[in-house]
Amino acid sequence: MYSTNGNNIPRIGFYICHCGHNIASIVDVVEVQKYAATLPGVTVSRDYKYMCSDPGQELIQQDIKEHNLNRIVVASCSPLLHEHTFRLAAEKAGLNPYYFHMVNVRENVSWVHDNKEQATEKAKDLARAAIKRVFFHKPLEKKTVQIKPDVLIVGGGIAGIHSALTIANAGKHVYLVEREPTIGGHMAMFDKTFPTLDCAACILTPKMSAVKSHPNITLWTYSEVEKIDGFVGNYKATIKRKPRYVNEELCVGCLDCIEACIYKEAKYPDEFNLGLSKRKPIYIPFPQATPQVVLFDPETCIDFKSHRCKKTCIEACERNAIDLKQTAKFEEIEVGTVIISTGFKTYDPKLSPQYGYGKLPNVYTSLEIERLVNASGPTAGEVVTRDGKKPESVGIIHCVGSRDEKSNKWCSRVCCMYSLKLAHLIKEHTGAEVYNFYIDMRTPGKGYEEFYDKFMNEGVHFIRGRVAEVTDWALVPEEENKLTIRVEDTLIGVVRRIPVDMVVLSVGLEPREDASEIRRMFNISCSSEGFFLERHPKLAPVNTFTDGIFIAGACQGPKDIPDTVAQAGAAAEALSLISAGKIELEPNTAQVIEKYCSGCKSCIPLCPYTAISFKEDIKKAYINEALCKGCGTCVAACPSGSITQNMFEDEQIFSEIEGLLKFAGIELEEKEVEHA
Ligand SMILES: Cc1cc2nc3c(=O)[nH]c(=O)nc-3n(C[C@H](O)[C@H](O)[C@H](O)COP(=O)(O)OP(=O)(O)OC[C@H]3O[C@@H](n4cnc5c(N)ncnc54)[C@H](O)[C@@H]3O)c2cc1C
Repeated sequence: MYSTNGNNIPRIGFYICHCGHNIASIVDVVEVQKYAATLPGVTVSRDYKYMCSDPGQELIQQDIKEHNLNRIVVASCSPLLHEHTFRLAAEKAGLNPYYFHMVNVRENVSWVHDNKEQATEKAKDLARAAIKRVFFHKPLEKKTVQIKPDVLIVGGGIAGIHSALTIANAGKHVYLVEREPTIGGHMAMFDKTFPTLDCAACILTPKMSAVKSHPNITLWTYSEVEKIDGFVGNYKATIKRKPRYVNEELCVGCLDCIEACIYKEAKYPDEFNLGLSKRKPIYIPFPQATPQVVLFDPETCIDFKSHRCKKTCIEACERNAIDLKQTAKFEEIEVGTVIISTGFKTYDPKLSPQYGYGKLPNVYTSLEIERLVNASGPTAGEVVTRDGKKPESVGIIHCVGSRDEKSNKWCSRVCCMYSLKLAHLIKEHTGAEVYNFYIDMRTPGKGYEEFYDKFMNEGVHFIRGRVAEVTDWALVPEEENKLTIRVEDTLIGVVRRIPVDMVVLSVGLEPREDASEIRRMFNISCSSEGFFLERHPKLAPVNTFTDGIFIAGACQGPKDIPDTVAQAGAAAEALSLISAGKIELEPNTAQVIEKYCSGCKSCIPLCPYTAISFKEDIKKAYINEALCKGCGTCVAACPSGSITQNMFEDEQIFSEIEGLLKFAGIELEEKEVEHA
């Protein structure tokens, strides 16, 4: 239990921060400090250069002890940044941390005003409101919940793989759920990776095998999370394992069944090669696929369609692994934390018809070229056009679906670098003249500028300007049987027409189609572009607003592999929760006052955190405090006013509002004493 320092008559400490020049250059902090000192209940009033610094916090702690303070108000920056810091400072001095309140005079005042006099008046108003509010603050106690040690990771790209291995190596159990038949994500499609140009498979394959064989990892590929309930430390998830029609425990990936399939020729577009090659109805996505287990495509298998197949595959399987009657299986698991690492999708260039993708056969996406240059790709690494010719000239168009008002406004961060990589690989494989059409070259990263320099010296051409269109119209003889790229070269100020044999569209990175479904299922938020939102870009980049749910990799925003792996430090956050064994929950939650609840249930569907249920036996709403995030929606919506929320009780809010209204000040004083 914390003290209230003797009695509940408010003895308020008020502190205003200069924040260097951030606040003090626009707000007269000394004037606000002097003004606060005159307000009822204020025992100490001070200004200080950096309140969040150690000396700033010590100042508060010393005053609490020396002046017997029982309420603290700090006027500084955003509570998101430092509320926790000051609460902790108050707590260390023995005061209940919920007797503290913060006023944001940086974002709400100094950053948005330029008139010093008016800004100072506004800061005084906000200070007065906070001082009036803390009269009614109550001591609150945090609740603790136990954390289950197992972790669920959704998405087995490099982010999910790296997180899984980090946690498993620390001795904790991981369930890694991957939607596709194999883990690896986009990285598994690449031949080489920038900036070192090392072989992607050489880095990734050992990690994929380590995941498969790790005793602390349960790997479920071809699976998806169907449902998740619970709260931090105590999640219950249902995983749907789609039927492969092959028993995973028995199949050893000998591929005899594929050989024996009555289709002698592969016939159907191979998804892993983006339709650039064909596969049979029974297949394995790529030679290093993990797990090494084949799967059936019921859409194309004769037996599924007509039951008239001789089932040669079944006969060929010595281990009797094929089971055409297999159905979906559902696994129920209990985990304490979840890491979402579902990655990205690339922009669909058909939405930018000026580039001719889907109409002009020799216009490719960058991802398709990644497969073409890959030694284990559809052409065994030979870069040829769709009519089988080695291109003599290739144009790479940057920023397709990035930095564009009509598609996506954001920079996809990896396209300049992977375009340089592809320019090098295409040149290496074909000796073609390669033209890069760019708006700006963006190469921020360790060794990235050097990578760019290297290719400038390699004879790759760079033309600055956004490409207007790609056509197959030949206006002059050298454009016959070629694609023509029309662009305004902004460095020399002329419109150019460049004939090439092949065009590569450097498509941008986007949120996956089902990102909003995942967002809803896991109760997390998305930023305006649709990528998952972190709790704080600098201070909590892998946390979400739902405790115990973390994000890693490109599902949070476009990033390259080094940054993705660094962000898979989400694993460290999950581990730190697990090792703590329990978590303290913020007490600013809502509660139902049962005697007033009419059982109308109107609050239940409104709760964005699914924290409210209905107690059938007593016909009253019930709020699970472990799930409640204190958003206040139910409090505002309850028609009978039977829901209250800690830290936002009516008297606290009304008192704050009255404090803001200058002329109400004197009249309030009596009431304050009465309430206190
Ligand atoms: C053409 C191209 C070339 C690139 N080249 C390079 C390079 O050379 N060097 C470099 O550093 N970066 C490169 N990148 C960037 C690199 O691809 C990303 O940094 C990396 O793939 C991000 O990994 P990830 O695990 O976050 O996402 P992903 O690779 O997208 O993996 C996500 C995984 O989650 C799975 N998944 C999705 N949704 C679900 C779900 N609901 N349930 C279960 N599983 C799900 C997916 O199937 C996938 O396996 C390139 C990108 C592109 C487009």
